[in-house]
Amino acid sequence: MYKTKAYAAPSATAPLAATTISRREPTNRDVQIEILFCGICHSDLHSVRNEWSEFMATTYPIVPGHEILGRVTKVGAAVTRFKPGDRAAVGCLVDSDRTCPQCKAGLENFCPNLTLTFNSPDKHLGGVTYGGYADSIVVDERFVLRVPANLDPAGAAPLLCAGITTYSPLRHWGVTTGKKVGIVGLGGLGHMGVKIAHALGAHVVAFTTSPGKKEDALRLGADEVVVSRNADEMKKHNGSFDFILDAVSANHDINAYLSLLAIDGNLTLVGAPAKPLGVSAFALIMGRRCLSGSNIGGLPETQEMLDFCGAHNITADVEVIPIQKVNEAYERLLKADVKYRFAIDMASLKAK
Ligand code: NAP
Ligand code: ZN
Repeated sequence: MYKTKAYAAPSATAPLAATTISRREPTNRDVQIEILFCGICHSDLHSVRNEWSEFMATTYPIVPGHEILGRVTKVGAAVTRFKPGDRAAVGCLVDSDRTCPQCKAGLENFCPNLTLTFNSPDKHLGGVTYGGYADSIVVDERFVLRVPANLDPAGAAPLLCAGITTYSPLRHWGVTTGKKVGIVGLGGLGHMGVKIAHALGAHVVAFTTSPGKKEDALRLGADEVVVSRNADEMKKHNGSFDFILDAVSANHDINAYLSLLAIDGNLTLVGAPAKPLGVSAFALIMGRRCLSGSNIGGLPETQEMLDFCGAHNITADVEVIPIQKVNEAYERLLKADVKYRFAIDMASLKAK
């Protein structure tokens, strides 16, 4: 065991503050990574404030962060894919049972015994796992990803959650050239959804509550932008979408989007508001429409997504911040005031 600097929240109502945590010494199969950048996902905020208490209650202190990009500092004797000095990344998962049908199919994200990067039971040290708002992390090689060298490191970090969470359902539901695709909510996930759907060749319509994001949405790759509070703009798209990806973090009227789907169209939720959403039966039955959900992605698909982003030169648009500004960043996240992902420069943690 060794000590490393981190930022943790001691309770649901306290701000995050500097602390020291323990990490295991790398075992045979482990990779030790010095963290250079960590994205701030809205899931970090939901978890820190225990907003998902019904589904996954938070154990305190919590060290969030699952968009981790860094450099390998040490590897165990049995590690074959990484060596010290390599660029390496870790997303939302650090372990799974490896024996269930989902793990065998490369869908570790649906393993019933998965270990999340933070707030999951830690099999090695006891207590819970601590995430990427830290100096370093130690992870089994199987859960460590490679990031193409051409991608900017700060912008690539958010691919580990926002990238895969949008890539996976877009691929699963066959988004490609000729499909009309809606992306709802231009935050960290949504702006990645726009970029990836565009790169997949779809006709992309971005839905935002923020008129100030209109120009950006077009630059990010949207063909059209709809300010969702404008009923007339919404109505123009009635019954026309093959697929809609909903990446909204708060409660909202999902029926307004279901009715924009074509016959047999599908709306996938990736946003995870704490409270249940009200679904109108009529919005679904009138067009044999489908409402579905998706949760990050498995390891093979995460690597595929990183390679796809490398080939298309796709990274997140990031606002790089020092870790000392993390609490301010959370308040801005709640106001949808980030273009479009905060990435923490972890050198700032060393500075103090
Ligand atoms: P984010 O950066 O805060 O973006 C959320 C966006 O939703 C905002 O930028 C805003 O976009 C829109 N929005 C916010 N409040 C709204 C409201 N009251 N009504 C309508 N729209 C609103 O969050 P994120 O990191 O992208 O995460 C989005 C959600 O996905 C979170 O709930 C997160 O926990 C969840 N998530 C799920 C997975 C998964 O595997 N399923 C993975 C990661 C995250 P506009 O300004 O454009 O309206
Ligand atoms: Zn996330």
